[in-house]
Amino acid sequence: MRTSSSLFACVLFAACHTTPPPALPAWSIAIHGGAGTLAKSRPQAEQQEYLDALQRVLRDGAERLARGDAALDVCTAVVSALEDDPHWNAGRGAVFNERGEHELDAAVMDGSTLRCGAVAGVRTVEHPVQLARLVMEQTPHVLLMGDGAEQFATAMGVVRVPNSHFDTEHRRRALDEVLRERGLRGTTGHLDLPSRPEHRFGTVGCVVRDRAGHLAAATSTGGLTGKRWGRVGDSPVVGAGNYADAYCAVSGTGTGEQFLRHVVGRTIAARMQFGGQTLAQAVDAVVFDTLQPDDGGVIAVDRDGNLAAKFNSAGMYRGLADANGRFLVRIFED
Ligand code: ASP
Repeated sequence: MRTSSSLFACVLFAACHTTPPPALPAWSIAIHGGAGTLAKSRPQAEQQEYLDALQRVLRDGAERLARGDAALDVCTAVVSALEDDPHWNAGRGAVFNERGEHELDAAVMDGSTLRCGAVAGVRTVEHPVQLARLVMEQTPHVLLMGDGAEQFATAMGVVRVPNSHFDTEHRRRALDEVLRERGLRGTTGHLDLPSRPEHRFGTVGCVVRDRAGHLAAATSTGGLTGKRWGRVGDSPVVGAGNYADAYCAVSGTGTGEQFLRHVVGRTIAARMQFGGQTLAQAVDAVVFDTLQPDDGGVIAVDRDGNLAAKFNSAGMYRGLADANGRFLVRIFED
């Protein structure tokens, strides 16, 4: 009798003291401001300026999700805000191509329907991500480019700006530096990456799992400093730099050509779908085994709201938040 009552007490004790698994977050969001960051040795105040910029946008995205906004709406709003902020290589603040002009790429994707839209090489659209969304919603197509995309922008009545609206002094200096380096090397190789990481990337992106469990991704970029005129990177290519389905949503940043070759977004999702990998495993495999060191990184979220932000470059501007109270912004490794 004593044995069975002490056994009962043991079971009761164990039941009361087993820590329950952490509750899945009702919503989750990750943002990035690109893999090419300023040097770690830069003054703290300068780093803080970028962290503050990330924090403002992340907070807005988190508030939208907390009040129940849909994943795609949150991604579009967050990336539009990042396009307005000259810190980032998207919209105002976009890098210059080799001709000293801006050609912008953007994409959105809704994971629950696989509906997606993208634009490439637009020059006068204030918010390329919003035009990408209109491609998704108002046309039977997925990707519009160049003059056709501009004409579609006119038909849709979206806000237009002169190409010089996207100019910033620091991007002009970056182009000068890249062209000077190329001149010194005497190379015509347009894909020589600028040697300073902060001159390379800076694309923006957002991935979200909303309260309804839907996933979405959005990405916007000016591409690579000094890129060849007409070059299109991975960001507007569905499955490469931007992707969402029922398993995960992914936004990438880095050397677009590498992300295109390895179809990064879709490969992460396929590892989960067909290989049974977790989000963390799939992201690690692609970022650290498939891509080359210094190619860049990704942010991603899965259908349970787990977040991942991994990079093989020196840093990646990023922010993560969820309904369980997580809220962090970072540039370098934790
Ligand atoms: N992936 C972008 C591109 O190649 C660049 C970036 O991430 O900053 O166009």
